[in-house]
Amino acid sequence: MRDLSDSLLEWYDVHARAMPWRVPPTDKKAGLRPDPYAVWMSEIMLQQTTVAAVTAYFQRFIARWPTVADLAAAQDADVMGEWAGLGYYARARNLLKCARAVVADQGGEFPADHAALLKLPGIGPYTAAAVSSIAFDLRHVVVDGNVERVMARLFDEHTPLPAAKPILTAHAERLTPNQRPGDYAQAVMDLGATICSPKSPACGICPWRGPCKARARGTAASLPKKTPKKAKPIRHGTVYLAQRDDGAWLLETRPDSGLLGGMQGWPGSEWVDASLPRPVAPPLKAEWTKLDAEVRHTFTHFHLMLDVMVATVTDAGPGAGSFVNLKDFRPSDLPTVMRKAFDLIQN
Ligand code: SF4
Repeated sequence: MRDLSDSLLEWYDVHARAMPWRVPPTDKKAGLRPDPYAVWMSEIMLQQTTVAAVTAYFQRFIARWPTVADLAAAQDADVMGEWAGLGYYARARNLLKCARAVVADQGGEFPADHAALLKLPGIGPYTAAAVSSIAFDLRHVVVDGNVERVMARLFDEHTPLPAAKPILTAHAERLTPNQRPGDYAQAVMDLGATICSPKSPACGICPWRGPCKARARGTAASLPKKTPKKAKPIRHGTVYLAQRDDGAWLLETRPDSGLLGGMQGWPGSEWVDASLPRPVAPPLKAEWTKLDAEVRHTFTHFHLMLDVMVATVTDAGPGAGSFVNLKDFRPSDLPTVMRKAFDLIQN
């Protein structure tokens, strides 16, 4: 196993991807250490999201809140607004909670210990292992989708996911070295992201092409096997875009729990199964006009279709939400599904 980790680390020393939260292997050898705050933030942002999508968000967050103490002192609405468009908004709420817990309970320093990290809001076993390993170079097994794919191929494992998870984790555990475990964890992820890619692995330039069983047996492109997913259900509902005659928009802050929790959005109905009548719930009395086009958006567990109703109103007494002056209204602070509704009325 030592040979496998050594050959991968040699490859990583030359081919490590440059990322704004990462300390390259040459700098690390010169004694530079990753900033645990940056590693933690990147890992929270990268949950369910690609490096390409995360990079600009990460850079904006770090520029605006350079330390965990800065983030802990931020206004909730500013953080939620900066997160808009990145999705999975519970992560943004937990980001704030975690920063505040680190400042209040940990003296402003992230703990290195896996168990202590796990006690912080929004940090599950994967993120605790990643932060402990990458930021503090402690030996923990870090298994994301890239690592699962590489392990399934290296050992030609045909058990479908998710049942294969413990098997692939056990392989990853055996391979994780005592020396440079943080670099090793990032190296496997980089290998999966750049060479051992889902559809067409570039086995010819892979540092593990010799020992790889799937390459030898010609099964690489078909691995990992996956249990087929059920089709996503469809839900539908209605959103209401009311603009006052001075230009102000009627917005509401969604409840903290549930989808898009804590984010600003248009008032609207519940989202119900598409087999039920589409619900209506106008936030105030007005001459509502229905747009011809509808919003279509896909969440993790369902597809959503929203009717968009628009109205110009003179009355300042809404039944839900509050008016936001035009100069303070930033469409980029809206979550994507809400921004889609706004985009429709611009066309
Ligand atoms: S040899 Fe091919 S299939 Fe095997 S780990 Fe490398 S890229 Fe993946």
